[in-house]
Amino acid sequence: MEIYLDANATTPVLPQAKAAAIQAMVEDYGNPSSVHSTGLKAKALIDGVRARAQRLLDTGDGASLLFTSGATEGIQTAVLSALNSLRGNLKIDLLLYGATEHKAVPEALKHWNEVLGLRLQILAIPVDTQGRHDLAFLRQHSARAGLVCTMAANNETGVISDLDGIEAALAGSPALWLVDGVQALGKLPLRLQARRIDYAPFSGHKLYAPKGIGLLYVRAGAPFTPLMAGGGQEGSLRSGTENMSGIAALGAVLAALDDGQTLRDAATMQGFRARLGEALVEAFPGLVFNAPLDLSLPTTLNFAVPGLSSRLLQDLFDAADVRVSGGSACSAAKAAPSFVLQAMGLPDWQAAGAVRLSIGPAVDEAFIDEACARIRACGESLRRHCLSPANNFPTIGDGITRFMQDGACCYLLADSVSKSCVLIDARPEQVCRLAQALTCQAYPLLAVLSTTGEAEHAQARELLAETIPELMPNKPADALGWPLGQAAIALGAQELTRKIDGQGQVLLIGKLESATPELAFIGLNDAESLSAWVGSETLLAPARDEAQQLALFLKNERQAEEEAAVQQVQGAQLKAFMSYHPDALLIDVREPYEQFLSHTPELPTAQMEALPLSRMLNAMQAWLSEQPQRPLLFFCRTGNRSRQAAMALTRLGHAQAWTLAGGLALLPSTARPTHQPDPALYV
Ligand code: PLP
Repeated sequence: MEIYLDANATTPVLPQAKAAAIQAMVEDYGNPSSVHSTGLKAKALIDGVRARAQRLLDTGDGASLLFTSGATEGIQTAVLSALNSLRGNLKIDLLLYGATEHKAVPEALKHWNEVLGLRLQILAIPVDTQGRHDLAFLRQHSARAGLVCTMAANNETGVISDLDGIEAALAGSPALWLVDGVQALGKLPLRLQARRIDYAPFSGHKLYAPKGIGLLYVRAGAPFTPLMAGGGQEGSLRSGTENMSGIAALGAVLAALDDGQTLRDAATMQGFRARLGEALVEAFPGLVFNAPLDLSLPTTLNFAVPGLSSRLLQDLFDAADVRVSGGSACSAAKAAPSFVLQAMGLPDWQAAGAVRLSIGPAVDEAFIDEACARIRACGESLRRHCLSPANNFPTIGDGITRFMQDGACCYLLADSVSKSCVLIDARPEQVCRLAQALTCQAYPLLAVLSTTGEAEHAQARELLAETIPELMPNKPADALGWPLGQAAIALGAQELTRKIDGQGQVLLIGKLESATPELAFIGLNDAESLSAWVGSETLLAPARDEAQQLALFLKNERQAEEEAAVQQVQGAQLKAFMSYHPDALLIDVREPYEQFLSHTPELPTAQMEALPLSRMLNAMQAWLSEQPQRPLLFFCRTGNRSRQAAMALTRLGHAQAWTLAGGLALLPSTARPTHQPDPALYV
């Protein structure tokens, strides 16, 4: 079962809202502008929903409450209306908006300021470390402002704005006031009638109505310019045939708000959030909340965990079928810090590592129980895989593990028999993570090597010596970390040797008795030197891998940029693929901390193996040399990592490597290939 904790992004549709929408589409499908009975029925429905919304939002008489397609449309309409009224007003030269507003607000200000040719200055109102508006700044600038936009509650942090303080700061100002009420709907009374708010947009899909329906409140007498002209619907304020199914569904949600039973009140939500918060603190030692809980909506938690990226945490939760959102915009390679948290002046690690967990008022006790249990399971998975900030389990290390940092590759070579290890090309930013992994494994390091001799590698070696002195090599070494006077480093049944050229050293690893090395860790060495030292079958593991190739052969090293065509299996074809390739090996390339949280097998006949991308180098040689080559189907959560794996093998000459396109995310849950974690991996 999915545990959906991303209600600030959107919500599922309430069953009664779905029923109302279907009724409006299938039975009461009239056009409210028609004068016949079917049309009149539709008109009555709209009037009823509007009247309920007016009462619930306390709009008072004379104000307008329009149905829109959502908050973005409401914001455009409000901004257009306000800015159009400012034309020729020479006393005004500013437009103000809160620094943590949803992008729809500053973008709309910029857009309409340009389209209307107003050339007003657009200024962000700073916020303090609690995410609240700087009222002194507002007071200072409000006399020159034509429009002030402040949200009621923030979508990322849940921080509730001090609307009374803002109203007081606007005393005497000619500014119109827009309050984005999206995150407040159903959670926070806005007292629209009592306050001087001129415009307030709302969005149905944040409170269990479908996407595509919203509301815009416009105070009586506030300037208004229609965004859409046409058939004169909504009293000519917003033309276009009404979204009747959306309005009916929104009506059902408002009725649920009214009945006092279906949706939980603020006190109950406080209790639920407190339980989720406790589970998080227990699961992730050192966790910090990014916004004060007593100033934020009782439905939102925004947090960061030292040493764990937002991306890692999202992958972890997703593997446990818990949907949360990054508090920041993440791309595949790097997380961009959240502008909201940056505006609050939070440290970079918090702004870049933020995760948002949000619930809606339809959740119940059983749902919260399950959510807390899954959060605790996520913490346990981290402890078992040596990623928790504290209380990690000891682990058994064996083989090669790759650690990536902004395109640079660091390799940890471990041998579980001799209980020893070697580190290659570590960087200072990775020291915490590496020290943690080395401590859990507790094997002494035989060498901390650099292929290129760059200063960062030496710096990382010094930092490691400060952090884990007990595990550092005890023999003197040269500038590249190689133990002085030693020809080879024995790692169990394998042996590490090196060759040096003007560019640094190549580290070769192979069986003790074998003539050609199986694998070479290469730095900047040129192809000519390499060809003297490695065989055509030696895999080359690069010191940098921006192109996500994983490994190369000497012969295709030059084709680094070339895109290999990758064979894809679509989710719908999975069963057919398995019957066509009964000998196929399905390989889960997600990280072990994700695999640990996966479900029980649902493709019982398939042969599965868990091999995270970070450990792929251990298996590539065997897969490539198998005769005949066995079909390999790689899968992961989104299809991104499995594509890298299939592509790398294809490039190396494997003819039967496939990726599950779109990953597990696009498969129906009953068709998910999963495996039980191997208990031998855990102490
Ligand atoms: N304002 C806030 C605070 C929001 O959270 C959102 C939705 O993400 C919007 C505006 C835009 O709403 P809609 O999706 O209805 O256009």
